[in-house]
Amino acid sequence: MREKIVAGNWKMNLTRREAISLTKEILDSLDDNIIPNIILSPPFVYLHEIHQMSKNITKIKIASQDISILEKGSFTGEVSSLMISSLSIDYTILGHSERRELLKEDNLHIRKKVDLAIKNNLKVIFCCGETEIHRTRQVHFDWIRTQISESLFHLSPDCLTNIIIAYEPIWAIGTGLTASPDQAEEMHKFIREIFTKKYGKDISQDISIIYGGSCNSLNARELFSQSNIDGGLIGGASLDAKSFNQIIKSF
Ligand code: PEP
Repeated sequence: MREKIVAGNWKMNLTRREAISLTKEILDSLDDNIIPNIILSPPFVYLHEIHQMSKNITKIKIASQDISILEKGSFTGEVSSLMISSLSIDYTILGHSERRELLKEDNLHIRKKVDLAIKNNLKVIFCCGETEIHRTRQVHFDWIRTQISESLFHLSPDCLTNIIIAYEPIWAIGTGLTASPDQAEEMHKFIREIFTKKYGKDISQDISIIYGGSCNSLNARELFSQSNIDGGLIGGASLDAKSFNQIIKSF
């Protein structure tokens, strides 16, 4: 079902003590009137503890930042989807641009992870986004269509209910450059349209499409007021409880 979402991607930041204190601050300032569902995505090592701290608050869910492409076995250092779901964690982020770029994860690779996540009852925050060069060359719409179709269009309509799309233009991630509300809305509308073409309007209207890329307490309200923007995936600003809470209140 389409819902408002604010997700915080902590990436490879925070010691255990800092992660606990950030979580406490976020939890303490939540009131009964919060509109979005909140997803916190700490590093693997803190998942269980942060989940334990927040599990009685229905509006808060936890996401891993990735899962292994492998199911189980002798793969030193890998963390499987089954391990994550055995912690009663509900979500995983997949296809983040940092992994696509640094670790060369391509659309087929991410498709395999999507299937494993769904098999093990994890919902997926599926990241897509174009580089600045794609935009300059005017191929950004094609790029996003390909990322989505190659990783997700094999899914049945039923499975698609497990997917949240995060549109994250790479040129806006961690750079302080935000897509303008018009630019972001244009792409979110396009993304919804490609789902409409493939799955029909009823299904595409139910998909949550959130924006990521230097979203902060100053620009969140205008971004979230666009009709196809259902919330945000927040990097840097999610490490500061005050900023994150202001973003949560930006609906
Ligand atoms: C991200 O990496 O998912 C992200 C949106 O980062 P930032 O908000 O720091 O641009």
